[in-house]
Amino acid sequence: MRGGPLEAGEKVLMIDPKGRKYLCTLRPHDKFSTHLGTIPHSEIIGREEGAVLRSSGGALFVAFRPTFAEYVLKMKRGAQVLYPKDIATVLIWGDIFPGATVVEGGGGSGALTIGLLQAVGEKGQVITYEVREDFLRQARLNVEAFLGKVPHWLLKHKDIYEGIEETLVDRVVLDLPEAWRAVKDAAQALRPGGLLVAFFPTVPQVQQMAAAIENEPRLQLQEVFETVHRPWRIQGLSVRPALRMVAHTGFFIIARRLSPA
Ligand code: SAH
Repeated sequence: MRGGPLEAGEKVLMIDPKGRKYLCTLRPHDKFSTHLGTIPHSEIIGREEGAVLRSSGGALFVAFRPTFAEYVLKMKRGAQVLYPKDIATVLIWGDIFPGATVVEGGGGSGALTIGLLQAVGEKGQVITYEVREDFLRQARLNVEAFLGKVPHWLLKHKDIYEGIEETLVDRVVLDLPEAWRAVKDAAQALRPGGLLVAFFPTVPQVQQMAAAIENEPRLQLQEVFETVHRPWRIQGLSVRPALRMVAHTGFFIIARRLSPA
């Protein structure tokens, strides 16, 4: 749901005077409640986004639909999610285009999956491999709570190290602890010119992955990098980086499928 009045059943992000964010699902007879008091959902339903509401304790809250990044940080997690800055990186450096066929492993909490599904659009397809049934279930709940039913998504309860069934895919995206074990199958699944994008939190993983790519004649190692997102605080004359940040998430490694000849 984008635009228009806030409706019962949707998720809404409530922002308090200090900028703290709370995600809640609007239900006609429910109440939003924090240490700053309560606001009946019935006062939020029917209002436009950006509406300012006063809590029973006198605090002013602003109501918005969550952005994708806000939703990812607030949604229920099975596995650790990829941070929004890293999802953004996958989408652009991985060149996830409308209409693309993308194989993803694993599904985790479905954060990256949402980004991939939005980027490929309904003419594309995302095929997600997830080995753990509990994570698979949570990923499905998270994705569908944000996007609704997604016919262009195939979620498989499978170990991606045992093989990738798809062929001639445009992109393979791996957020897995031992993604090097899927390199041969990724090379097999990709079409010539296709991209392999992998993400790892630690340096030894990057080393193993780079070695696996260099040993695979069908792939060319192209880039290894990380991105840093440093938030700033603006408070009157005090304009400076925030004191705390997420200082490390992980590294990207990108390879491309060569032509068979
Ligand atoms: N990118 C995800 C997080 C992935 S966490 C997100 O943004 O939410 C890594 C996931 O890979 C976990 O859910 C784990 O269960 C899964 N996994 C690990 N090994 C796997 C394998 N061999 N095949 C498929 N999934 C695997």
